[in-house]
Amino acid sequence: MTSAAIREAFLAYYESRHAHVRVASAPLIPDDPTLLLTIAGMVPFKRIFLGERPPPAVPRVASAQKCIRTNDIENVGVTSRHQTFFEMLGNFSFGDYFKADAIPWAWTLLTEVYGIPPERLAVSVFADDDEAYRLWVEVVGVPAARIQRLGEEDNFWASGPTGPCGPCSEIYYDFDPASAAPVDVTDDNRFIEIYNLVFMQHSRDAAGNLSDLASKNIDTGLGLERLARVLQGVDSNFETDALAPILSAAAAAAGLPPDMRAVTPAQAVSLKVVGDHARAVLHLAVDGVGASNVGRGYVLRRLLRRMVRHGRLLGVDGPFVTDVLRVAAGLAVEAGYTSVGDRLEGVLTELAAEERRFLTTLSRGEDRLAETLAAAAEAAPAGGGGGVVSGADAFELYDTFGFPVELTAEAAADAGLSLDMEGFAAAMEAQRARARAARPGAADVVHADDAAAVRAWAAAAGPTRFDGYDTLVTS
Ligand code: ATP
Ligand code: MG
Ligand code: MG
Ligand code: MG
Repeated sequence: MTSAAIREAFLAYYESRHAHVRVASAPLIPDDPTLLLTIAGMVPFKRIFLGERPPPAVPRVASAQKCIRTNDIENVGVTSRHQTFFEMLGNFSFGDYFKADAIPWAWTLLTEVYGIPPERLAVSVFADDDEAYRLWVEVVGVPAARIQRLGEEDNFWASGPTGPCGPCSEIYYDFDPASAAPVDVTDDNRFIEIYNLVFMQHSRDAAGNLSDLASKNIDTGLGLERLARVLQGVDSNFETDALAPILSAAAAAAGLPPDMRAVTPAQAVSLKVVGDHARAVLHLAVDGVGASNVGRGYVLRRLLRRMVRHGRLLGVDGPFVTDVLRVAAGLAVEAGYTSVGDRLEGVLTELAAEERRFLTTLSRGEDRLAETLAAAAEAAPAGGGGGVVSGADAFELYDTFGFPVELTAEAAADAGLSLDMEGFAAAMEAQRARARAARPGAADVVHADDAAAVRAWAAAAGPTRFDGYDTLVTS
């Protein structure tokens, strides 16, 4: 089953069998000041769950939502199941149906619509959720041995430190159902989490206290690429039809064979990073994010720079992201993301410019990075290990050469070294303090809406010229 067919089957199932209204994916930039990016299918509906907005006339919807999770950036290519950019299929109830429907519906979808043999599935429930446990055993007929009760860490879902949340029940695919070992869904080698059913019934306030929401809701997330990987019988999400052509384009750019089994493990990781990050930067840029040193712009910059760095680890010399992004864009347009087609040329121009900037800084900074790592290794105590890149060196690479500190940290880790993040933060703060002190009258400028102070400051500073389109480093 192709990804497109999997997506359509999900939406059609909830639409035609359970009267949901199909809604389009919201942008990656949420209409929510507490969140940097859309990390789950529920994000566009958060205010409805909280009771701050009325539910739609038909209080049940289904969507295929594009998501980005930066917390998974280090997992990309390292686990077989995490991307930064992925699509989450979701069915939602706003005070309408609850557990007794959501649980059997999800099961029927997986076993009958997608045809997954029931003995290949296992489920988890929140430790004291006897109701969900009973529904799985008595209504669905899952053997007790294939149901696991887990604690808050795994089975209590929240979109952030505050906001709507609730206990959840997750469905896992078992790669080794004949195993004599007892079911332990936290064993990532044997199981992969595919579908999370959240019983959204609480809200957490800033002090951490839980209260009951006015209604009991359903929020679910089924990872499209994970389900595709299971149904397509491939070894990782990256080998599904959603990602494989992008990895092949990256391999071609590096002069490598398109077959993941014909490259080294390190090259396979780099291909996965490039393929994943290509989709992430493409969709971020299409949704209006431009590379910068703060917030979402920094996420984009970091992903693109990481993509370039892994391209170089693969042996690519010179610009290559445009070719890879074009393949990612073709797939996105086929998947129904029409805005990708509409904005593609402008976005490619911007991203290619960012790539060029980084290649320039890289060519100046790569030697410095190598020297820094060598010096840190040299200074390490005898016996190997324990070398540390100082915060000052990491800051110089960041400030003068444009290396995101996370990139330096990764390069350090690859060389068996660590990085003094606290020292880096201190160097960054010291520079900010110097900059504040250097600005004439800056101490008077408290808020940007303090117009008189801003005018006085601008007059004192004299004329300025913006050269950020051509250069990144100004020191
Ligand atoms: P994991 O434990 O594997 O990190 P999760 O519990 O963080 O997943 P949820 O927040 O429950 O994931 O999201 C719902 C579903 O979205 C998951 O069951 C999975 O299918 C999918 N998903 C979550 N994170 C990713 C990711 N980084 N890449 C691809 N799919 C993902
Ligand atoms: Mg996770
Ligand atoms: Mg999980
Ligand atoms: Mg989960």
